[in-house]
Amino acid sequence: VLKDNIGAGSPKESDLITRVSKINLNVPVGPNVILVKNLYLSCDPYMRSRMSKYEGRYVESFTPDQPIVGLGVAKVLDSGDEKFKKGDLIWGLTGWEEYSLITNAHAHGLFKIEHTDVPLSYYTGLLGMTGMSAYAGFYEVCAPKKGEFVFISAASGAVGQLVGQFAKLLGCYVVGSAGSKEKVDLLKNECGFDEAFNYKEEEDLVAALKRYFPEGIDIYFENVGGKMLDAVLANMRIHGRIAACGMISQYNLEKPEGVYNLTQILHKRIRIEGFLVTDYYHLYPKFLEMILPYIREGKIKYLEDTAEGLESAPAALIGLFSGRNVGKQVVVVARE
Ligand code: NDP
Repeated sequence: VLKDNIGAGSPKESDLITRVSKINLNVPVGPNVILVKNLYLSCDPYMRSRMSKYEGRYVESFTPDQPIVGLGVAKVLDSGDEKFKKGDLIWGLTGWEEYSLITNAHAHGLFKIEHTDVPLSYYTGLLGMTGMSAYAGFYEVCAPKKGEFVFISAASGAVGQLVGQFAKLLGCYVVGSAGSKEKVDLLKNECGFDEAFNYKEEEDLVAALKRYFPEGIDIYFENVGGKMLDAVLANMRIHGRIAACGMISQYNLEKPEGVYNLTQILHKRIRIEGFLVTDYYHLYPKFLEMILPYIREGKIKYLEDTAEGLESAPAALIGLFSGRNVGKQVVVVARE
């Protein structure tokens, strides 16, 4: 439960509280309603903006004093909705609570899980919204070609690690930035990146990128914004593409940081395109066709960070903004 909508600044664990309330699991649900048991919850940076109150954004603010809503994996315990039946496993928007009653689940953005030979938690990330973001952002927005030079920020995170691996599978040269030595090592040794560096240890980001991309960057998968974007612009190649997936370094600021190298967009004919993953959900079946064999054949490495129990959820969510998570941050509410 969010205590109250917050302003600018880093979110705190104490902005969220856990509360006990009772739900009678034996009362049959009404028409168009499903009762679910929540198993895994997904911590996502966009949830930060839902904690604040202001108008005109693409997501609504959370309602204070109500359980917050996020992506998760759940099991249907009872159904008054013909699209779902008892025992179905689903992923999509659910409550950050042990059990949720969801009205009009399909329109609410819940998908039935058809493939259960992979860990269920993957549907909070690799096989859910996160994987789709990497897929749509890289293949659809960046229009990548074999041999191109690709840079990814927040590269060890949920989306970044996958973009890097997709780019490697295509035959690109791939470099990622991340916020610790542990993350840099994982990118190089586990995820197959050609190079990776700790951006916190670089005094001059323009020079750092020049070191890894002496011939410049063809594709930048943007997750952080601010100074990194500025440094990337100075290192882009002619006809480079930037997929603006997210700008996490800006989410807690009262005013966004200035980006100064904008004339580079003109001189180098750079295409920058923002995207929202929800615009690409129609490609989900095509994405599954590609990704499931990769997972089954062990061609994709997936870093996942699990926090145990609903009571650990506030710290897990807040941790995204200090880089506490190593890979996709998941909260385990129950395993079955
Ligand atoms: P991550 O798993 O990457 O977690 C966030 C990471 O961001 C942290 O671990 C931290 O890693 C890094 N970070 C936090 N604060 C800063 C900062 N001030 N400067 C630089 N890096 C920072 O999250 P996701 O992969 O889920 O999301 C990545 C981005 O994609 C986010 O910006 C998110 O909003 C966006 N997104 C957009 C979608 C869309 O539809 N457009 C869909 C999904 C995600 P480190 O230790 O490396 O600093």
